Amino acid sequence: MADSRVVLITGANKGIGFETARQLAARGWHVAIGARKAVAGQAAVAAITKTGGSASFLEMDVARSESIEAAATAFGRQFTRLNVLINNAGIYPDEGISILTISRPQLTDTFQTNTFGPILVSQAFVPYLRHGGRIINVSSGYGQLDGLSPDVPSYCLSKLALNGVTLMLSKALGPDAITVNSMCPGWVRTDMGGPNAARSVEQGADTAVWLAAEAPGDITGKFFRDRKEIPW
Ligand code: NAP
Repeated sequence: MADSRVVLITGANKGIGFETARQLAARGWHVAIGARKAVAGQAAVAAITKTGGSASFLEMDVARSESIEAAATAFGRQFTRLNVLINNAGIYPDEGISILTISRPQLTDTFQTNTFGPILVSQAFVPYLRHGGRIINVSSGYGQLDGLSPDVPSYCLSKLALNGVTLMLSKALGPDAITVNSMCPGWVRTDMGGPNAARSVEQGADTAVWLAAEAPGDITGKFFRDRKEIPW
């Protein structure tokens, strides 16, 4: 493990997060599988190690600060450095609810996971990211200014704000040569995207894998889909 690059992916027990982990492990990376449920996280680790990949489980609920702090401490017992952090964990809880009726608790819940989670996870793991480290925030076209839907209100707003987080972290971490970018996976066949989505998980993970492993190291503060920059 000493020579391999290390990536931490939140919400990596299934969906796009797991597929991103699988692809990076296949390239020889060590993958720290962040998951809030131990059984699911350990099953994801087993699926990767069974095929020869290197992976470990890190229990982390991104909606809970104590859980993030405990995860950072546990990570530090095993690793001295992190090459890439992928803030992937997300919820999509309010399709069909109107901006005219959504409640404060629903808004708060969605932001706790989709927006505040990535801020707090980044704060906790930046000390492990060195010169050349990368943070990738898995956002959505629903967070684009012209993608905001009044019938998916908390999700859209949480991803719009996540893109703001990308811009701010990018500026704050520029002096340390740590890059921060947002990406949209497209509409992907996962538990979140549903069976009718246009894209496979392999396609959905592609841009995150590219940003982690192949994108030029000086790109920061941008938003990508299909490996191309897209408007905020
Ligand atoms: P998914 O299959 O529902 O997976 C979501 C992952 O996030 C799961 O591992 C889930 O864990 C985890 N998660 C949720 N809340 C968490 C928390 N508080 N702490 C830790 N983990 C948590 O969804 P997906 O389609 O792979 O989505 C991954 C990312 O892509 C999300 O950020 C999503 O917004 C974004 N995205 C997806 C699509 C799409 O069409 N699928 C489109 C645009 C953007 P559990 O198993 O414990 O619930």
